[in-house]
Amino acid sequence: MSESPRRIPPLLTPENRFFWTAGADGELRFKRCRDCARWIHPPAPRCRACLGDDLEVAAVSGRARVGGFTVNYQPWLPGFPPPYVIAIVEIEEAPYVRLTTNIVDCDPDDVHIGMPVQVRFEQAGEAWLPLFAPVQG
Ligand SMILES: [Zn+2]
Repeated sequence: MSESPRRIPPLLTPENRFFWTAGADGELRFKRCRDCARWIHPPAPRCRACLGDDLEVAAVSGRARVGGFTVNYQPWLPGFPPPYVIAIVEIEEAPYVRLTTNIVDCDPDDVHIGMPVQVRFEQAGEAWLPLFAPVQG
């Protein structure tokens, strides 16, 4: 097999570092408001719903559904051969939380809207990128 693809690491900031490094523990974590229980993503210092600032970081199951996707056929990145799937997934515990990601470990032709997927992480520099693969079974 060829070498594994190289994804570009995101820029880590004090505000988003917890999110990008949670995958080192195999967990997907988001901020959540202690007052109204709303999940907050992208990371922000205040709750977007109630404007409260009493936030915690908590893990979710890592399950999600494909909310939209496109298949890329262009060789934009060296070492990252097409085709690959760029998708928006909706987090199971909070479908209003959406991540732009790649769907991996499946044929791009098999991806469909509503497909259940599960997070898996790929390290890129200091970050652990949340990618998603079909739920088996
Ligand atoms: Zn709130």
